[in-house]
Amino acid sequence: MTRLSVVLFSVCLGLAIACGPSRVPEKFHQKLVILGFDGLDPRLVQKWMDEGKLPNMQKLAKQGGLHRLETTHSPESPTAWASFATGVNAGKHNIYDFLIRDTKTYMPDLGMVHREPPRFILNYIPIAAPKLTSIRGGTSFWVTAGRAGVRSSVLTVPVTFPPEDVPNGELLSGLPLPDIRGTMGTFSYYGTDLSRYEEGDTEMGGLLKRLVFDGDNAQTELVGPPNPIIRQQLRDARATPHPTDVDKTRIAELEAREFVRLPITIYWNKAGKSATIDLGDSTVHLQEGEWSKWINLDFTINLLVRVHGMAQLYLIRAGQELQLYISPVNWKPDNPPAAMSAPASLSADLYERLGAYRTLGWAEATWPLNEDRLDEKAFMDDLYRAFDDRAQVILQRLDSQQWDLLVGVIESTDRVQHMMWRLIDPTHPMYDKALAAKFGDSIERVYRRCDEFVGEVMSRIDATTPILIVSDHGFHSFRESVNLNTWLVQEGFMTLQGQAPGEKKLRDLFGGGGQFWENVDWSRTKAYAMGLGQIYLNLQGREGHGIVAPGAESRAVQEAIAQKLLTLADPKTGARIVDAVYKSEDIYTGPFVGNAAELQVGLAEGYRVSWQTALGGAPEGIIYPNMKKWSGDHGAYDYKSTPGTLISSRPIDASFASIMDLAPTVLKYFGLPIPSDIDGKPLF
Ligand SMILES: [Zn+2]
Repeated sequence: MTRLSVVLFSVCLGLAIACGPSRVPEKFHQKLVILGFDGLDPRLVQKWMDEGKLPNMQKLAKQGGLHRLETTHSPESPTAWASFATGVNAGKHNIYDFLIRDTKTYMPDLGMVHREPPRFILNYIPIAAPKLTSIRGGTSFWVTAGRAGVRSSVLTVPVTFPPEDVPNGELLSGLPLPDIRGTMGTFSYYGTDLSRYEEGDTEMGGLLKRLVFDGDNAQTELVGPPNPIIRQQLRDARATPHPTDVDKTRIAELEAREFVRLPITIYWNKAGKSATIDLGDSTVHLQEGEWSKWINLDFTINLLVRVHGMAQLYLIRAGQELQLYISPVNWKPDNPPAAMSAPASLSADLYERLGAYRTLGWAEATWPLNEDRLDEKAFMDDLYRAFDDRAQVILQRLDSQQWDLLVGVIESTDRVQHMMWRLIDPTHPMYDKALAAKFGDSIERVYRRCDEFVGEVMSRIDATTPILIVSDHGFHSFRESVNLNTWLVQEGFMTLQGQAPGEKKLRDLFGGGGQFWENVDWSRTKAYAMGLGQIYLNLQGREGHGIVAPGAESRAVQEAIAQKLLTLADPKTGARIVDAVYKSEDIYTGPFVGNAAELQVGLAEGYRVSWQTALGGAPEGIIYPNMKKWSGDHGAYDYKSTPGTLISSRPIDASFASIMDLAPTVLKYFGLPIPSDIDGKPLF
């Protein structure tokens, strides 16, 4: 019986090893290494290179140059890394943003992956595992090259989850590999200083719980993965057309059991500023300011099904107040709820060699810092470990020598810039002189860590092996938030009715039954904004309540919005807010163009669409200062001002290179034909 559950719900270690990697004979003599650093900005690289702070990158740049690498529409990691992998524009690979929407209901959902829940019979016995499918189109260069016999090792590149089979190669998944709850990272925070009203979900994926001590101990719980059996029952119960009071009671009772919970007992030694925490099968003793090792957590769905995860605990304070942080529960690499590598045994093999390494695609603690639950020091300590986890995986595979083509991506560069940009921009509303004195060098330190890592890689490979350093986009300061939907309302393109709804939360996206667009009158709405800079028309025949006729009317509405947006100015300074507005028919080609937003807005330096706009909200006011620590960004900016970085150890033909050029460059390098539908061109 246990066997059944293991086969269906986790990657069976025994099975995985049985079908594990077999050594592929070497067919190619040339080798190539591509290192990706998400969001590495070419202006910052140039600056610190000139100051002699990035000696290894400089060494490479002396051979082949430092270049700006044109990014994609939109200038976001999922879109740009998908173009990196496939060599095509988003119209051919279908990844436009983190979010997609249901055209019939307008409901936003996380993009990249299509999920089908597992199925059970008799509400107990698993008969079908959860099915995950990538919505990315196109063919990645490691697959094309692999078919010709090139042995690839593809490590934590964004948009590689679920893992695709790589002929003659291997792949360890990166973003959007979720946490055990199926989210991009839900952290838990427990505090004696929380009021009852603060308990619950935060805007960006945190769970807050108030601690009440009885003597020296307090009881609480860790909220784990959803119970798929209860979820199945909930879906059925909610589908009842006219629910009676009995049905409603049953739904409430099921909702209370929707997630699997683990009890936690905290023993507080106030005098010693420490605590002992019982969680799952572990007992952890921590001093104030101390992080635990990774601890294993088993969540029991029923006797047949268990889900395995791991988390780190951090005792923030244990003096006057007690504050405890628990990281998002990562999948356990040797026993994940679904395959996270190809072959499936790779993640377990790495676990055996390296010990625990974080598996969550969004590996850094951005949300708890943004919500002021972790401070800058804790965030940076954790971020360096996230960097090292990725780096050691790449070095381990590099040393295995079982590759002709190695591609590894580290994303800590992106996260540190999102969170710490306010400390290098004295004009940012969240600039803080005292904090800047302490943490103003955080971004530079991570760039230097990248440089050291490049040096480590260079020292381990043959001097004849070319190295390419790539980033998917650059960075900007995010000083002001722009409510695009509110602007659409003001200009008459969107009509609201009734009461303004509450704030949208990220949790509402993750099957949480959240409400969106509650007060939008679709019968009088021509356009709506969602995601980072996308504006969709409410098109007849496509949207559930579409009113704009395709053809001439659609073009006229697009034109009117674009022209008006270009005149949008900051009332405080008179500065123009929008650099450019792009029409989908001008920037995309390919089979998925129909899924693109009609307009992609390119905002000017300093302005980014608001979080509420991203989730479809229309709160009051159009422009307001960004008072969050998330202070640097790239999504929703004009792609022209947001290029990534390319450093090559080989001279490059093109004076201006695009992220779509990497795939054809690799294929040409291995002497392979470049498929005719690829949009990029080889760089050497
Ligand atoms: Zn980013």
